[in-house]
Amino acid sequence: MNSNEISEKFRNAGVTVAPDRIEKLMENYKKFSVPQNEVERTVMRTLANENGIDITALYTKTVKIGDLKSEDEWVTLMAKVVQLWDNDHEAVSQVGLIGDETGIVKITVWKKAEIPLLLEEGKSYLFKNLVTNKYLDRIQVAATPNTEIEEIKEDIQAKGKEVTLSGAIVDVINGSGLIKRCPECKRALVKGACGNHGKVEGIYDLRLKAVLDDGKAAYSILAQAEIVTKLTGITVDKAKEMATEALDQSVVNVEIVKKVIGRYFTFKCAPIDTNYLVKEIIEVI
Ligand SMILES: [Zn+2]
Repeated sequence: MNSNEISEKFRNAGVTVAPDRIEKLMENYKKFSVPQNEVERTVMRTLANENGIDITALYTKTVKIGDLKSEDEWVTLMAKVVQLWDNDHEAVSQVGLIGDETGIVKITVWKKAEIPLLLEEGKSYLFKNLVTNKYLDRIQVAATPNTEIEEIKEDIQAKGKEVTLSGAIVDVINGSGLIKRCPECKRALVKGACGNHGKVEGIYDLRLKAVLDDGKAAYSILAQAEIVTKLTGITVDKAKEMATEALDQSVVNVEIVKKVIGRYFTFKCAPIDTNYLVKEIIEVI
């Protein structure tokens, strides 16, 4: 955005700000070698504060996920948290997928956004003023200090374009088997500690990360406990027993490997970044 466009945004919100005042501010921030999009946001935040208006009045454009196209846009979404991922990035509070009836998109909640709530899988939220960006040509959204998130009562239907994959599981990747998650943010614990919450009493979970090869390409697939149980007959409770008996958590992984490696499967999967989340087992040969 240039100074005229920013001025226009303020005019729409009922406030007059001269473009040369905006330019002056922009010049100032540029001196600190702040990236251009960050300059715009900082200038808008400054002027909004000065004029006592809510910055959301300037940005908010409620859209559907399927309509997200360009980067560096401020958008408001109503969406459901489809999945939260393990996150080991220090600057990130939570990362995962949110969806509405038109699609699914990756969301990153930056720590600096200071969002007072933690997103939970399966719950729906109003996400005000997320910023769009692109990674490997895929659109994503992020919660930044201008973002507000509130839980809503509506149950938003999340739909990603599912695909069917058939092939052999040729590899089981580290991090599969019995794991412990943080009871609050669901991150997998590393040595009993959560990256967000430190030492916590973890909750056991079961998962599979594997490579499925269809003869032409290899896909990295993820399966959550329910699917792992269907594939291997091992429940979370059974896995706990096995680990307790052997005094070793890795026995679970060994058993999973025995049950899946080299076998042919047809899965219905939801694409997530470069991975495929198994939603349904269609066939096992
Ligand atoms: Zn945690």
